[in-house]
Amino acid sequence: MTTAALSDVHPLLRDFLSRRVHQLLIDGQSVGAQSGKTFATPNPATGETLAVVAEADAADVDRAVAAARRALEGPWSKLSPAERERVLHKAADLLEARAEAFAQLESLDNGKPIRESKNADLPLAVGLLRYFAGWPTKIHGETTPVSVPYYPGAKFLHYTVREPVGVVGAIIPWNFPLLMAIERLAPALACGNAVILKPAEQTPLSALWLGELLLEAGVPAGVVNVVPGYGPTAGAAIARHMGIDKVTFTGSTEVGREVLKASAGNMKRVTMELGGKSPNIVFADADLDAAAKGIFTGIFYNQGQCCSAGSRVFIERPVYEKMLGALADRSKTVKLGNPLDPKTHMGPVVSDEQRKRVLSYIESGRKDGAQLLSGGAAAPGPGYFVSPTVFGAVKDEMTIAREEIFGPVVAVMPFDSVDEVVARANGTDYGLVSAVWTKDVKRAHQMAQKIKAGTVWINCYHFVDAAAPWGGVKQSGYGREKGAYALENYTALKSVWVDLN
Ligand code: ADP
Repeated sequence: MTTAALSDVHPLLRDFLSRRVHQLLIDGQSVGAQSGKTFATPNPATGETLAVVAEADAADVDRAVAAARRALEGPWSKLSPAERERVLHKAADLLEARAEAFAQLESLDNGKPIRESKNADLPLAVGLLRYFAGWPTKIHGETTPVSVPYYPGAKFLHYTVREPVGVVGAIIPWNFPLLMAIERLAPALACGNAVILKPAEQTPLSALWLGELLLEAGVPAGVVNVVPGYGPTAGAAIARHMGIDKVTFTGSTEVGREVLKASAGNMKRVTMELGGKSPNIVFADADLDAAAKGIFTGIFYNQGQCCSAGSRVFIERPVYEKMLGALADRSKTVKLGNPLDPKTHMGPVVSDEQRKRVLSYIESGRKDGAQLLSGGAAAPGPGYFVSPTVFGAVKDEMTIAREEIFGPVVAVMPFDSVDEVVARANGTDYGLVSAVWTKDVKRAHQMAQKIKAGTVWINCYHFVDAAAPWGGVKQSGYGREKGAYALENYTALKSVWVDLN
């Protein structure tokens, strides 16, 4: 695989990457970890070190929480809602102006192709900031007509106030590093909270750069603290911290369970966005060209590293062979390569460990007797590339049909009836997203009612917006990020009684 020299990147990014060590961001300052430890984050397209980053652990999380508490008591709570809006709009403007540089950083640290980071991650991130920038002046309580049976005729004024929850801990994964950071920060800040953000150890850079941008936009020191580090140290310290009031976690169901247990110490509020094994269901009457594109994007977008990947494809029997063949043929035309090249369709997966994991799932599909139609191997050259892999004739009980692979591997299966496909689609512990392809409006809505998932896409896939709620059911998690629903996560409702007698 050819990879571009760093001299080709945006001058602002070249400057950022030239730092010897990328420090933690605590209390508005770039600081080393107290332990003095650092770790390397590789460029997954080459395997070479992209940057060296300070490694936070529990002691640094303590420092960050203390700074966040001070910031909450201090300048942050003194800003009016209108001023908070201006700060968030300024942040959106700054990010938009630097979109090219941030998109390149995402591609370098995560491996995602620049056409995705530039056309999706960055515009969505700016959109999230702008959407939540509009909320501070619109978050309000209500008056309530109360009656008190044991005090007949008495008059009270009752009203509610929405207050910030306090200090929010955000633990995020590596598949959409900037987008995930902003998805948590934008609503948390709009509601007046302070945040301790732990990016994934594989992709810490854009969160650190974003933290600096937020300071520049006018977010007071200590309101946003960024502490890259490993899960069992920095992440676990956030989950159990007695000074953190709420945790928002996005990652695997397995780690989510650990975070939930650790959060019990101070009963912190928790929202969880976890894994998925999402069904993408194609009926024979669908617009088959559109469905073919939807299946392809549904699984191979972001190298399949989406919690919402359409990794189980159910195709109605009369069109099964045709659709399967088309998918396999198309996947053979995918251009794997340098993520910074605009012509690249797919980059590497995020890490060597992830590549090994994905390859071991491919091996299990082979052993279980699924039909390998394309891909099925690591692509040659340096970097962590895996060819887009299509398995046909998959059985529901095979590991590749049950477990989240988080890579470019799709399990395709025929089906014969609505009841059968609904049962099979729902026959998983997960319930994040789903899609249905049909021209029959009634059937589309019937399916939307029957499928157990947080999102149902009808005749489309992978559509998201700042205003549309996002989250799962079953072991895909609970709570909704994005949209007005996210405000529930980041505010506490206070009840106020005034005696008018
Ligand atoms: P993935 O499988 O996508 O890597 P993980 O669930 O392993 O997802 O990681 C998601 C995030 O959770 C990362 O920021 C990671 O560092 C963090 N993490 C991992 N283990 C723990 C843990 N025990 N406690 C808290 N956070 C953790």
